[in-house]
Amino acid sequence: MNIYKTEAIVLKDYDLGEQDKIVVFYSRRYGKIRAIAKGARGIKSRFACVIQPPSYNSLLIYKNRKGSLDVVSECIAKYQFLGIKKDLVRFAYVCYLIELIDKLTEEGESQSSLFRILLKSLFLMESIPKCSLDLLIESFQLKLLNILGYQPYLKGCINCEKKVSSTSYFYFSLRLGGLLCQNCKSVDGSRVTLSREAFLLMRRLLFLGLEEISGEKINKEIVKETEVVLRTYLSYQSQIKMPDSYFIHNFEKLELMQTAG
Ligand SMILES: [Zn+2]
Repeated sequence: MNIYKTEAIVLKDYDLGEQDKIVVFYSRRYGKIRAIAKGARGIKSRFACVIQPPSYNSLLIYKNRKGSLDVVSECIAKYQFLGIKKDLVRFAYVCYLIELIDKLTEEGESQSSLFRILLKSLFLMESIPKCSLDLLIESFQLKLLNILGYQPYLKGCINCEKKVSSTSYFYFSLRLGGLLCQNCKSVDGSRVTLSREAFLLMRRLLFLGLEEISGEKINKEIVKETEVVLRTYLSYQSQIKMPDSYFIHNFEKLELMQTAG
């Protein structure tokens, strides 16, 4: 039996029978991993806290034969992200981010750059002001697009390469992944419109590091518009329906009501 070691972030956990759990990790060295944590359903289990998303752990895993799941041998907490786990709104944003990664990655495909931006985002999501969380998610989506090879082209028209200028709105081709000028807009029936403000935000986010987000003050409507375009573009390119982020806003509303009450 082979053993392998890696750092990993817990994405999800599912019950398996009376005693065990299946845990989905995103690891630094091996990408997405699915493994059994034996006895993890027990209250006194050594795995009880460390397999809750989005814990960051050091893992030792027994590799099983093809066709059967690997088994977690050791799982030691490096960081628990208690600030996220204890806050409904922060946790809701993290669930959205986890869902994106889970849908867009396959087991056995290693992407260490994806692990790095995920880990960096989690540390930021634990500490930045809550009003910046939506912008951080957007910035993450753009970096994810870049890693997957779909970085949007915003320097000019993606079809004729001419400069595109507008005072009101732009056309964005979901199929080609970039702006279209007035003359070329008919080359893609799947184009969407983008307000000038949303275009400027998307262009700015392309060059901003994740850690620079919390200083930005952006109109929430523009943030929402950009998020929808990016999510639609991710769905179009990956051919996978992306999760909707509306549930996050329910948690935000709930929190506002609790604060007011
Ligand atoms: Zn053009």
